[in-house]
Amino acid sequence: MNVILMGPPGSGKGTQAANLAEKLGVSAVSSGDLFRDHQRRNTELGQLARSYMEKGVYVPDDVTIGMIMEWINDPDHSAGFVLDGFPRTQAQAQALDDALTERGGIDHVVLINVSDDELVRRLGGRIICSECQIPYNLNTSPPAVDGRCEECGGSLYQRDDDKAEVVARRIEVYNEETQPILDYYRRAGILSDVDGEQPVESVGDALRVAVSA
Ligand SMILES: [Zn+2]
Repeated sequence: MNVILMGPPGSGKGTQAANLAEKLGVSAVSSGDLFRDHQRRNTELGQLARSYMEKGVYVPDDVTIGMIMEWINDPDHSAGFVLDGFPRTQAQAQALDDALTERGGIDHVVLINVSDDELVRRLGGRIICSECQIPYNLNTSPPAVDGRCEECGGSLYQRDDDKAEVVARRIEVYNEETQPILDYYRRAGILSDVDGEQPVESVGDALRVAVSA
């Protein structure tokens, strides 16, 4: 069973990918996991990826694809996978298809749908403690006392990255980037949508229904 889980930042994709993989008896992996693993093991691909990240530029597709293919072709992952956050570009999607032709290709692509307004509400309300770094959210999990950390009494502040207008821009970029990939999988007839604004458990149930169809 080969599944791709897609969804914007703030959709809860990472948690859902792990839960879905467990139910399916396969492994979940994100490109972030693989970057960290390769850095830790200091592999050739890891060193290459780091050289780009240190320059503050995107890691090229072939490096990311190399890491994903190595993982997919590992005998430990022959039962299948849930990919989280990959592919991000059409070149990656094409490379993945080519690599999987002899293994039956991708079975399902599921998109966790969350409206832009709800994403801004979830991500744009994030504040953190200046002392212990615990995160709160003004919209979804506010502290008991305004501006004060419940754990240590430290003052809470909002990082520039978490400001609503920055979050809105990040979502816009994500939408622009992923639209061609969604179209690609929709044309292939393997894309389904799940409502990501339900309670977390209901999203999980809907995902399981989507991949058993
Ligand atoms: Zn604190």
